[in-house]
Amino acid sequence: MNERIPVCEPFLTGREAEYVNEAVTTGWISGNGDYVRRFEEAFSEYCGCKHGIAVCNGTVAIHLALVSLGIGKGDEVIIPNFTMIATAFAVCYTGAVPVFADADKDTWNIDVSRIEEKITKKTKAIIPVHIFGNPCNMDAITEIAKKHSLFIIEDAAEAHGAEYKNKKAGSFSDIASFSFFANKNLTTGEGGMCVTSDDDYDKNCRYYKNVCFPVGGSRNYIHEDIGFNYRMSNIHAAIGLAQVEKADEYRRLRKEHNRLYKEYLKNCPGIVFQADEKDSLNVNWMNAIAVKKEEYGRTRDELMAYLKDNLIETRLLFVGMNRQPALRKYGCFCDEDYPVTDFLSQNGFYLPSGSGLTEEQIKYICDLITGYSR
Ligand SMILES: *Cc1c(COP(=O)(O)O)cnc(C)c1O
Repeated sequence: MNERIPVCEPFLTGREAEYVNEAVTTGWISGNGDYVRRFEEAFSEYCGCKHGIAVCNGTVAIHLALVSLGIGKGDEVIIPNFTMIATAFAVCYTGAVPVFADADKDTWNIDVSRIEEKITKKTKAIIPVHIFGNPCNMDAITEIAKKHSLFIIEDAAEAHGAEYKNKKAGSFSDIASFSFFANKNLTTGEGGMCVTSDDDYDKNCRYYKNVCFPVGGSRNYIHEDIGFNYRMSNIHAAIGLAQVEKADEYRRLRKEHNRLYKEYLKNCPGIVFQADEKDSLNVNWMNAIAVKKEEYGRTRDELMAYLKDNLIETRLLFVGMNRQPALRKYGCFCDEDYPVTDFLSQNGFYLPSGSGLTEEQIKYICDLITGYSR
């Protein structure tokens, strides 16, 4: 095979262009257009939630959720140490302090048994992140949150359509956040959404997202609180609506690709995959693997370089929150060991994972990986 295989490209195979064209030709391109409302309704319904509040990216969706729950200066929020930086930054934007719990060595999600030890009098919320589309153990997290009166905000940026006990990711929170960045399972290019089934939280999200104009009230240009412009444009929402219409098909593709990777690599020593959580349906946003060099016979970096030589694009995994200079400077406690996160960031990487991959490409990649072991 002599073609470049990208690590992850958007997959736009539905009515995206038609809807965008309609938005443009009607002149409805701001955040007030009808596609915004339709996309919010369609996606929140898909998640099994009453309300959806579209915003301009997944990072601000987390921030908006936190602000709408009243979290701010003086508060602490527990997050996984192994996550994308946006989870931590969004907490910092509110003035609260993120506190890190290590990942589980098998599922790579937050280690539920390490949450309670992080709780203090200042703790207000837990942000479980469904890493790579693998839903966290929400029963255990809900029990801890209830016991200590904490909010739950799922960072479901990677988990569109994922399920835990037959309920969709996003439906286990006070407010959950999603991202629709170009490489996510569903995309609007740049975009995000909060989902909730609570009427008051829905109102708060709409209020803060739109510079605290009174929701539904008359516009007298008097603002009671400091708000944000986090609106999504109607053009982006047009793409989003077309994507939701194909959500089940895209989910099936991602899962099938993951199945093929595991099948073709099952006899390759030293390559490990994320374990699915019990009772869950992982949507496999990314096919991440970790290389155990004693068994595989090569290091992660050697394997990535070899794949690159063969025109296969890969990416490193996240680096732990405890190792982020920005978070240390901000005042986060970083002087603890996080061995699982370190193992993943030192030995893991993403294989090509876009919904448009073919079985032939996956087999080709797996044959290269297997052939390179020694
Ligand atoms: C992608 C992602 C985000 C941020 O979303 P953006 O739309 O890029 O701002 C937040 N959290 C996680 C876990 C993500 O993967």
